Amino acid sequence: MKGCFITFEGIDGSGKTTQIARMHTFLQEQGYEVILTREPGGTRISDRIRELLLNPEHKEMEEATEVLLYAASRAQHVREKVVPALEKGKIVLCDRFLDASLAYQGYGLGLPLSDILAVNRFATGGVAPDRTYFLELPLEVSQARLATRFASQEGPDRIEQKPSSYHERVYEGFMTLREQYSERIVSVDANRSIEEIQQGLQADILLYLQARKHPVHPS
Ligand code: ADP
Repeated sequence: MKGCFITFEGIDGSGKTTQIARMHTFLQEQGYEVILTREPGGTRISDRIRELLLNPEHKEMEEATEVLLYAASRAQHVREKVVPALEKGKIVLCDRFLDASLAYQGYGLGLPLSDILAVNRFATGGVAPDRTYFLELPLEVSQARLATRFASQEGPDRIEQKPSSYHERVYEGFMTLREQYSERIVSVDANRSIEEIQQGLQADILLYLQARKHPVHPS
């Protein structure tokens, strides 16, 4: 496909939403055709599945159900939104993708990675990111940031409410994935100011798009 698929990963509170929104604006200003989307969600149906997944009342949700709902949300999102944009030559910026399923359901819940990969192979039809920015932040720092957010805005969702041992496994999982897929995943020190992080990301993405000869105005 002509486009370029870029994902942002990291634990909750690592700054993905903040950085991806800024990168979206920056790339538009540079003249690139770019869309911003997120998982779970990104389409009407996927957003309904997101509500099912994150609703703190759904405490009885089975682990297998969780895996399949994330994959179902992804299947709809990939086909309805990601692939059509890539076929038009656009840059797709996506807040979380398959790495998050491996980190949260694989490493976090302790489910076999091979099962998660198999389910997601079916869900994505093989669509995979070209480049992934992993925002690396110590767990304590992210939890302090989230505490501020929970106090001023909405409370923690069903996944965020899980115990800290779970979040530690997720964190370690992301670190393992980063090593395993080092040719795709770019690790970014997220324990800096919003501006410093963004400047590093902008410099990297411009070099990457130029190296790929990604056109500013796709034909
Ligand atoms: P994520 O999408 O990874 O959960 P957010 O972008 O929502 O993270 O950021 C989590 C919280 O931390 C928000 O309240 C945000 O304003 C704050 N935040 C984001 N980046 C930074 C940063 N570099 N330094 C301090 N606080 C930050």
